[in-house]
Amino acid sequence: MSRTKIKINYSICGDGNKIDPRNCTICLKVCDPAIFLLHQSLDYQKDDDPYDPQIWRVTPVYPSLCTRCMKCVEQCPEQAISIKF
Ligand code: SF4
Ligand code: SF4
Repeated sequence: MSRTKIKINYSICGDGNKIDPRNCTICLKVCDPAIFLLHQSLDYQKDDDPYDPQIWRVTPVYPSLCTRCMKCVEQCPEQAISIKF
């Protein structure tokens, strides 16, 4: 089986852009193998404000567990997720 490539468009969701992923989390809820992680940016510093929307994003951390169900792509309200097989 070829490697699954899952991309989040961060100009839409995360990094303080259009959608704050903490206010959505649909992809995290619909993915049965739970491949997504909601987290603070790797640039996050100890003294940064943890409520700052600029530092939050969703990352597909376990793409190899993807079952190709396409629920995340279909249910993301902003079409911010793309998957290539
Ligand atoms: S296609 Fe299905 S299994 Fe794969 S990341 Fe999306 S919701 Fe999860
Ligand atoms: S479903 Fe789409 S908009 Fe919602 S958190 Fe996931 S990537 Fe962002």
